[in-house]
Amino acid sequence: MYRLLLTLIALAIASCAQTENKSVLYDQGVSWDLAEYRSSTLSDLAYDIHLQIPSRLDVAIQGVTTFHFTLSESTPDPQVIIDFNQPASSVLSVSKEGQPVPFELINNHIVITGIQPGRHAIEVAYIAGESSLNRNDDYLYTLFVPDRASFALPLFDQPNLKARYRLTLDIPTDWTAVANGPLEERIESDETATYSFKETAPISTYLFSFAAGIFQSETTERNGRHMTMYHRETDAEKVARNADVIFNLHYEALEWLEDYTGIDYPFDKFDFVLIPSFQYGGMEHPGAILYRASSLFLESSATQNQYLGRASLIAHETAHMWFGDLVTMNWFDDVWTKEVFANFMAAKIANPTFPDINHELRFLLRHYPGAYGIDRTLGANPIQQPLENLQMAGTLYGPIIYQKAPIVMRQLEFLIGEETLQKGLQQYLNEYGFANATWDNLIAILDDLSPEDLKSWSSTWIKEPGRPHIQTQLTIEDDAIEQLLLVQSDAWDKKRIWNQQLTVTLGYPDSMQHIPVQLDDPSVELEQAKRQPVPDFILPHSKGIGYGLFTLDPKSRAYLLENLHNLPAPLTRGIAWLTLWDEVLYQHVSPASFYELALRSLATETDELNIQRILNYLTATYWRFLTHNERIQVAPELEVFLWEKLNAAPSTSLKVAFFNAYKEAVLTTQGTEQLHAIWNKSQSVDGLTFSERDFTSMAFELALRNEEAAGEILETQLERISNPDRQTRFAFIQPALSPDQGERDTFFASLKEVDNRSHEPWVLEALSYLNHPLRAEQSIHYLRPSLDLLEEIQRSGDIFFPQRWLGATLDGHQSPEAASIVQAFLDEHPNYPYRLKNKILQSADGLFRAAEIIQQ
Ligand SMILES: [Zn+2]
Repeated sequence: MYRLLLTLIALAIASCAQTENKSVLYDQGVSWDLAEYRSSTLSDLAYDIHLQIPSRLDVAIQGVTTFHFTLSESTPDPQVIIDFNQPASSVLSVSKEGQPVPFELINNHIVITGIQPGRHAIEVAYIAGESSLNRNDDYLYTLFVPDRASFALPLFDQPNLKARYRLTLDIPTDWTAVANGPLEERIESDETATYSFKETAPISTYLFSFAAGIFQSETTERNGRHMTMYHRETDAEKVARNADVIFNLHYEALEWLEDYTGIDYPFDKFDFVLIPSFQYGGMEHPGAILYRASSLFLESSATQNQYLGRASLIAHETAHMWFGDLVTMNWFDDVWTKEVFANFMAAKIANPTFPDINHELRFLLRHYPGAYGIDRTLGANPIQQPLENLQMAGTLYGPIIYQKAPIVMRQLEFLIGEETLQKGLQQYLNEYGFANATWDNLIAILDDLSPEDLKSWSSTWIKEPGRPHIQTQLTIEDDAIEQLLLVQSDAWDKKRIWNQQLTVTLGYPDSMQHIPVQLDDPSVELEQAKRQPVPDFILPHSKGIGYGLFTLDPKSRAYLLENLHNLPAPLTRGIAWLTLWDEVLYQHVSPASFYELALRSLATETDELNIQRILNYLTATYWRFLTHNERIQVAPELEVFLWEKLNAAPSTSLKVAFFNAYKEAVLTTQGTEQLHAIWNKSQSVDGLTFSERDFTSMAFELALRNEEAAGEILETQLERISNPDRQTRFAFIQPALSPDQGERDTFFASLKEVDNRSHEPWVLEALSYLNHPLRAEQSIHYLRPSLDLLEEIQRSGDIFFPQRWLGATLDGHQSPEAASIVQAFLDEHPNYPYRLKNKILQSADGLFRAAEIIQQ
């Protein structure tokens, strides 16, 4: 009896655990548990995919996929769970050797139970989903990252189930097709051409790709390497002007990477496809990289920055062939690793070919403001974040992955040295080639090669959010430095140590002394500074390598507020700007004195990168930290100043920067009239030609400032637009600029319907005008409903939409009332989804700080 009871209890527990486990396996999306279950039970995976693609858009794409796999012997209660994010009616049949196989459809999974261990070939016939096939009139292409493959085709959609793909496409005879593998044969019959591609090497589902349609192609051979470029450009001159450079850049990147990694290009062929209006700059499908056409086909008027951008993009995607494609992250929680390595390699490949560009300053200004923008907030997230389900992969993306991770990677290289890093990466690629690896796998390799404790380095820099607070402590005796300490502390009181290399600069009237230091303790003494004369200022981070909240001592602060613009090196000035901006946000420097410094510096600054950054700070201070009355007071002088700088600027890009700042800052009647004259084309600006887009944005800015004429300005601008797509966009945004509050309220209310949010960029633009600082008082009642909608926004929108929705809503506000609305929302939702709450804290940081500063 006793035994029986125990057995019964055990059985009950077992069956309970099983249902629980099953329910997780069958969750919508791909849960971590499902991924784990499949990767431990399935092996030797191959897909035969046959798709019939008709030319007519209204005819569905039919597909048959044969799944070849081995189901492991040791699987109790074995089942095969295929992902297919389509309605049940799209699954036409499931069979094995011609015999139907029973299956269930649960939460967008095809579940086959009662299957025996061993080798299988299971055939699924279906109607393909189209949302990730980007189907157009005469071409289509796949974009499956991160979990979008299963929105089109049935498969096991997770990065660590690499498979070989054999693809067959039936397409119209005047189309062409390109895929990961080389073309094996093309057979034509009647109106259909059948393209059969050779089987690929093992790759992840998000990298499986093809494009088909009307494409031109150019083929070349460089030193035994064959490459084909597919494109749809009709301007033959443009193709001729760009093609050779594009091939060369790919060729050079391939050579460089083979040399650096010690591994030959790992896939069978190397082609790329230029897609008009592609969603990203590029996507690294092995053998068939997809690019946005305009990123590679540059206009003859392209700037140095655009040329560098193109070279970096090509190097980035090519680097992915090794970093991401050959060795792939095990799960999307480590997606940042492939991105950071691709960028890191791209900088090494492309930068030396542009010696006229100040790469250190460019890196600083492209990465630090964005990374600090998150790390200074209470919602800061670590670089590596847990991911429970692939369908949440989108929430991982943001400035910490794109801006902070590259900074940290440079820190790592400085810490262990270039050679050790290269050696470790080679070992990593060799060990995990055609398979998957985690960040911790790489750190384990590097840790063995280096005397540094990289595990604890990684746990602070990669797995923890935030940044250290770093200050100097100076002791003076007999007019000389007795002791200079560099001290770090943890604002979150977790006693974390951010081990890093820094260069501290001591500034003297005619010279600078740079002292490198390894800050691996809470406090480190700079021996080299001992007995040196007392400097005018100390900058604790001066070479663009350090990372933290650097607080200046009062003397250095006062000196830089007077003299920043006289520092000789552009990089030092750039760093000083970042440091002083933090000083404003942490209320050590008043917005008014920062604003004064910005104006004074713009008068003499010659470096374009710094000018752009100062203009950003200037307009941010103007709108966020000055009150409306203060703005009215400074506007006349600011407008004249920007106008003069605009006219005197030596380059078009600078003219554009000054014009945009002018357009956004204008407040006086005279300035508004001048902007109106430019918009109605009765006045021109020397050296600038405006596009329709420019006139549209001028019309919007004018409508905000001149309520009487707003209606007429907007109507006139709408009439000027001839392209129907752009007309629709304008008409969508128009009510957000209406002088009539009722009309704006109605528009805002309409955004509660998901259908009215389908054009996300339009929604964001409209929202930012609704919440413009000039309308902040009238739009404050939109804040709460905007926050109430956020969870739904995340469910229905693109991955970047929630954060951008918050930005477009909150960025225009500065009042304590606005801040308290956000705070009240947070207080009332103590159990709000964690990551979404962090997004609110990140986006509201500027508002919270502004409200405090304004109140003083
Ligand atoms: Zn990338």
